[in-house]
Amino acid sequence: MEKKRRIVVVGGSAAGPKAAAKARRIDNDAEITILQKDGDLSMASCGYPYYVGGFFDDRNQLICTPTGVIRNPQFYFNAKAIEARVNTEVTAIDRAGRIVSFRNTVTGETGEMTYDKLIMATGSVPRMPPVPGVELEGITTLQSMKDADFLRKIGD
Ligand SMILES: Cc1cc2nc3c(=O)[nH]c(=O)nc-3n(C[C@H](O)[C@H](O)[C@H](O)COP(=O)(O)OP(=O)(O)OC[C@H]3O[C@@H](n4cnc5c(N)ncnc54)[C@H](O)[C@@H]3O)c2cc1C
Repeated sequence: MEKKRRIVVVGGSAAGPKAAAKARRIDNDAEITILQKDGDLSMASCGYPYYVGGFFDDRNQLICTPTGVIRNPQFYFNAKAIEARVNTEVTAIDRAGRIVSFRNTVTGETGEMTYDKLIMATGSVPRMPPVPGVELEGITTLQSMKDADFLRKIGD
C-alpha cells in the first residue's frame, strides 16, 4: 500500500488554510496539518477596523463562514479532514531531515513532525515607524486578532 503524503502548512490565517484546502482537493488521502501560532484561524483581517470601531460586537464574525460556522480546528477536521493546531509556533525547520519543530505557545509543550511537503504561509510582520512616542502604552499595530482585541478593549 502506498504511504500517505504528509503535508504541513505553517501559518493559519488567509493563505495557510487556502493552501491546505487546495492540497486536500488535489490529494484526497494526504495527511494535512496546519500549524498556526495564533489562537484563531482564517481571520478576516479586513474586518478588524470595523470591529475595533464598534460597527459590530461579536468577535466571532471575524472567524466564521458566511453561514455563521466558526472556522476552528473542529470545522477544518469535519469539513476537510485537515488537522489544524492553534497556539502552535513552528520554531525550526530541518529541511534535510524534513522535520518541523514546534512549541505550544500556551503550554510550552514542544514537538516535532515530519513532512513530505512543507507550505510556508507565515505572512508578514508589521514595522513600527521610528517616531517619538511609539513605545507608549496604547500604541500598537492593527495586524492581528490580538491587536484588534487590544484596541477594542482600550476603546471601551
Ligand atoms: C487591518 C487590515 C485590513 C485589511 N484589509 C484588506 C482588504 O480590505 N482587502 C484585502 O485584500 N486585504 C486586506 N488586508 C490584507 C490581508 O489581510 C492580508 O493580505 C492577508 O491576511 C495575508 O494573509 P497571510 O495568510 O499571507 O498572512 P497573515 O494574515 O499575516 O497570516 C500569517 C499567519 O502565520 C502565523 N505565523 C507566523 N509565523 C508562524 C510560525 N513560526 N509558526 C506558526 N504560525 C506562524 C501568524 O500567526 C499569522 O496568523 C488587510 C489587512 C489588515 C491587517
